[in-house]
Amino acid sequence: MGLLRARAGFAAGEARPDLPEKTADPHDIHAAIILFGSPGSGKGTQAKLLGQCLAGPHISTGDMLREHISAGDEIGKEAQRLTKAGKLVPDEMVNALVKQRLAAADCEPGVILDGYPRTVNQAKVLLGLMESDGFKPSVLHLVVDYEKIVARLSGRRQCPVCGTLYSLTTSPPKVAGICDRDGAALVTREDDREEVIRERLHEYDVQTVPILNFFKESGVPLFEVNAGDATPDQVKRRVWERLMEAGVLPATAGSR
Ligand code: AMP
Repeated sequence: MGLLRARAGFAAGEARPDLPEKTADPHDIHAAIILFGSPGSGKGTQAKLLGQCLAGPHISTGDMLREHISAGDEIGKEAQRLTKAGKLVPDEMVNALVKQRLAAADCEPGVILDGYPRTVNQAKVLLGLMESDGFKPSVLHLVVDYEKIVARLSGRRQCPVCGTLYSLTTSPPKVAGICDRDGAALVTREDDREEVIRERLHEYDVQTVPILNFFKESGVPLFEVNAGDATPDQVKRRVWERLMEAGVLPATAGSR
């Protein structure tokens, strides 16, 4: 179990024999976990589970922008125009949103960042914010075998009438191509076509690799965790065991 020493007035990490050891407290750690994962890696689910472990918020810039879009404010109008066209919103806009969000009191135990940074410029700004706000950044990359993602997603079929999803491998309909519930002919959703999936995975690599390289070169700890072949709960266990061993998550995290 990871123990931290109380260290008022002493250099960081230096033990004080006159003070009792105290159990790692989330507030001492002030972790910022920067989450990356390709489409189909279960990133959204893991972000929520990790938020529970850390007792800090899951900050998704996509969700923040959608809130502004629903509110119909100036940021929302600009974000709607760009996201509809499949474009990223300007760096300055998301940087300002994240800066403001990180200053909120609920971020004290730590944060999970999801969907941010999306550019190297955003990554640079984020590292500056981490330094000024005293967060300890780490990168968590959920790694999955792309061929398995393609096989899983392209094997999905949906009923156009009731919306039920089937998997040709794990939960096929009783009669091939026909919905069990209402007898409608099943379809492949546009997003589940193999070419579309491969294109999205390729785009993910093009966008993400330079950012991961930037973090590596900047000395930010990077954790790659295999997120394939396992249930969300098993992946969560793998993730928090790795992060706890490395002292990124508090030792109490697993009990949540
Ligand atoms: P997401 O839910 O993360 O896929 O985000 C939805 C959309 O919001 C994206 O397609 C982008 O247009 C925009 N967006 C979200 N996060 C960012 C970011 N960090 N930088 C620029 N645009 C973003």
